[in-house]
This record gives sequence, C-alpha cells and structure tokens, in this order.
Amino acid sequence: MKLGCIADDFTGATDVANNLVRAGMRVVQTIGVPADRTPVQADAVVVALKSRTTPADQAVRDSLAACQWLRSLAPAGQAPQIYFKYCSTFDSTPQGNIGPVAEALMDELDTPFTIATPAFPDNGRSVFKGHLFVGDTLLSESSMRHHPLTPMTDANLVRVLQAQCKRRVGLVEHRVVDAGPEAIRRRFAQLRQEGVGIAIVDAIDNRALLTLGQATADLPLVTAGSGLAIGLPPQWGFAPNETAQRLPKASGAKAVLAGSCSAATQRQVQSFVQAGLPALALDPLRIAQGEDVVAQALAWAQAQLAQGGPVLVYSTADAQAVQSVQAQLGTQQAGEMVEHTLAAIANGLASLGVRQLIVAGGETSGACVQALGIERMQIGPQIDPGVPWCHARSAAIGGQGLHLTLKSGNFGSDDFFVKAFDILAAMQAA
Ligand code: ADP
Repeated sequence: MKLGCIADDFTGATDVANNLVRAGMRVVQTIGVPADRTPVQADAVVVALKSRTTPADQAVRDSLAACQWLRSLAPAGQAPQIYFKYCSTFDSTPQGNIGPVAEALMDELDTPFTIATPAFPDNGRSVFKGHLFVGDTLLSESSMRHHPLTPMTDANLVRVLQAQCKRRVGLVEHRVVDAGPEAIRRRFAQLRQEGVGIAIVDAIDNRALLTLGQATADLPLVTAGSGLAIGLPPQWGFAPNETAQRLPKASGAKAVLAGSCSAATQRQVQSFVQAGLPALALDPLRIAQGEDVVAQALAWAQAQLAQGGPVLVYSTADAQAVQSVQAQLGTQQAGEMVEHTLAAIANGLASLGVRQLIVAGGETSGACVQALGIERMQIGPQIDPGVPWCHARSAAIGGQGLHLTLKSGNFGSDDFFVKAFDILAAMQAA
C-alpha cells in the first residue's frame, strides 16, 4: 500500500479514487473509519469522511483517526504517503477545515512541510500565481462566492489558507513548476528556510501535476484536490492497466434510484423515461401523508424486474416542484424524508435480487450506502468523469456482493442510467 487518502466528503472520495484507478492503482474506499483492521488488498486506500463543513475540531479528530487507521494497515517501516483530499474549489471558511486538518496531520506525521493545491485542469480548476480559476473566471467571481456553507470570496489561496493556519503559507509559482522537479524541490527547501510550513503550488495543466508528482512522491503528507492523484502514481511505477479496475463479475437485476434534483439528473431521468424503460416517480407529499410508499414501490419494482428491468425509482423533480414541497414540509424535513424512503427502497431492492445499482445524488448515496450496510468498496472502471463502478459487500443481504455506482447530482451524460449498465456488461465481456 503506497497511498492513504483522507477525503473530506463522500463523492470527493470516489473522485480521487477514480483518478488513482485510472492511473493504474488498485483502490479500496471505506465509508468512514472502519472499526476493524482487516488487511486491505490495495495499492491505495481512500477513507471517505464527512468533514468538509463539520466544526473544525471534529474534522481534525476524524481526520487523525483516519490517518492512524491508514498507517496501521501498512507493515512497520513502510508507512504510506498520506493524501488529504479536499474540493477543487478549496471549499472552506476562515475557521477551516483545510488549514486545521492539514496542520493536525503535519503534527501527527511529524513533518515540517507540505503542499496545498486544489488544481484539477481536466475539470477546469487551475492555480496560477496562487490564484484559483474555475474555468475562465477567478474563484471569487464564480458561483462559489454564493455557496451556502463555504462561500469563496477570495481567489488568492495563499491568503485564504493563511487565515486558517498557524504556520506560514508560501507559494511555488508556475515558472518554478515549469522548470521541473529539481527546481520545485529547491524552492521547497528555500521556503522551509524562510519558515514556511505549507506551500500553495501553481498548476495549470496535467504536465504540471505530473512534475509536481515527481517532486512530492516522497513527502510524508500532501494536501490537494483530486488532480494530484494523476501525478503521483507514475512516480511509484504505476501505469494505466486493466487489472487495476477489474471488479468481480456482475450478475443479478438492475435498478436506478435517483434522489438528486440537479439539472444533469433531471435530464438523465427524462432520457430513461423517453427510452420507454420502466420508471416510478415518488411524491414526497404522499410520503408525508403516511402512505407506505416503500412497499408500493417495491411491489411495482418486483413486477417490473420479472420482465427483465432495469427499473428506475425517482424523487427527482424540477426546481418549482421542489420549492413547493419544501414550502409545505420544510427543506430539511423534506430532504431527510425522501432520503430515508429511497434508502429503504435500496434495501428492499437488494432483497429482491438487485445486484447492479445506480444511485444519483450525494446525500442520497450516503443514505443508501448506510441502509445497505456497506463499509468498503473496490473501485472499478470509470463510467463518466468522476463516476466509477464499484463493488461492495452489503450487510443488508448477508454480506453478498453487489455492483454500485454513486453519482454526484450534476455528473454524467444524459444517457448515464442506460450507458452505465452497458459499460459494466462490456467490461465483463472483455
Ligand atoms: P445532489 O448530488 O444533486 O446535490 P443530493 O442527494 O445530495 O443530490 O441532494 C438532493 C436532496 O434533495 C436530498 O436531500 C433529497 O432527499 C432531496 N429531494 C429529492 N427529491 C426531492 C423532492 N421531490 N422534493 C424535495 N426534496 C427532494
């Protein structure tokens, strides 16, 4: 095991895992910090936390627990590099949690220096002269400035991170990165002499991430978005290969659960319905009235699955419909109620023999994975950027295996709900 990742949210964990698999590493992702220390057969292990917006002291505690567990997996003297993964838009506030977690990990690993770069050029996130760009605009002019929990109003990452850190924050500029790994290492040494503990590093393309990978592969700790995961594996001799993404053979019935109301998911639901495939819409108001929507959906699904499936059960609705439901039930109450309903349906579908499952929506995915009693997942081939197929054992079906993909709301092409099953089938045939 070369690498242990600590990701500050669920779909972000899958995103970094996906990049590592594509670069040739075998990756296992855990949901939270597992209680057991069963050996993990993988080149990299990613722990998915929910620490992006929790209070800083809680995020620090969870991250340290993840770090200790990851290090306990490796034989003595072969400590993995630790990779603290956050969002490529550097989602945080002056209270944290990127700075406090990075510094706590530095203390834990007894290392005086690390880097910070959220750059992920393939997804339009680049860092130049310490400033983060989202596509063609500065972070502070992107929609992130209005984020409800972590509004990003300053694109200067040195300033943003300094506000969260006790240690001094410095910068490794593009011209240094461009000059190669030796130049970057010299700059690291210079910054350390100047008393800098954490360096923001410019990266405007994948070449920069590969160069940076060369310069950082031997640091005990790196902190980054998922982009650096492109640059590190080649330094340890990994190259893209089929074996890294191989999953057990898929079988069983196919189903899709959609609880996301994001634009991409709305189009995906529409596309599935237009293809003439069986789809059932859930009405949150009927759930609120106490109707047994779960039993109704499962009875419907059982009949449809007997015809061959795949089936889709969705609460996905347009903004107007969602607002109307929220006005009547309350935003949080409506959200949790729908999540619980979809999670119970996920559990029921697994009992009906569904072994290939797509879940759309970050929060929805979290609820479904919990209901299925899944603690770890093997990461497989990519379906669309940031969304791989995974394989997991579910306690809800006595530890049997199932294939699942957890799609963040706005990810994936319009035909994702059909294409994903085709990709899994093609992978088996290959
Ligand atoms: P995304 O990844 O698109 O943000 P999430 O699953 O994270 O998707 O969040 C969607 C939220 O909206 C969930 O809490 C879900 O339960 C809730 N929700 C889904 N459908 C409806 C609906 N029809 N009305 C109100 N809330 C809904």
